[in-house]
Amino acid sequence: MDPSTKDYVAIVQCHIVKQRCAGYFCEQALQQRTGGFAAYPADRTYRHVMIDCGGCCGRGLQRKLANLVHQLEKQEGITRDRVAVQLSSCITKDSHHGPPCPHLDYLKTLIARMNLEVGEDTRISRLTESRRESGEYQA
Ligand code: SF4
Ligand code: SF4
Repeated sequence: MDPSTKDYVAIVQCHIVKQRCAGYFCEQALQQRTGGFAAYPADRTYRHVMIDCGGCCGRGLQRKLANLVHQLEKQEGITRDRVAVQLSSCITKDSHHGPPCPHLDYLKTLIARMNLEVGEDTRISRLTESRRESGEYQA
């Protein structure tokens, strides 16, 4: 995915993690262009929404994204090729929240079938990254 072609970001949170996380650090990473957003050009403005996967197995994500792309195009003429879907780090990586989502490939398949482009990771915590490097966390 080339973030320089996007104007809108749908940050996807794990439904389970979202029960206790507002997503502050995901949003901060987007604003600061860190972690999974490091390749997003700093001189480009992105609007965003935070959505969750809808719960295991993640199939509800399809309906949420369908609603989002429908409204974006209908209300503002923003087409899906200008939308990036970014999977949060608590979905893609091992962390204190748990191992990566067991349905990660399924989520990516759903997104690809909607002709949306997907990026992985949002906030990368230094502490968590050091634990991955030491082998305490797996990936
Ligand atoms: S990556 Fe962190 S801030 Fe973002 S949704 Fe997961 S736990 Fe919350
Ligand atoms: S499908 Fe994955 S991201 Fe969604 S609630 Fe289950 S573990 Fe979390």
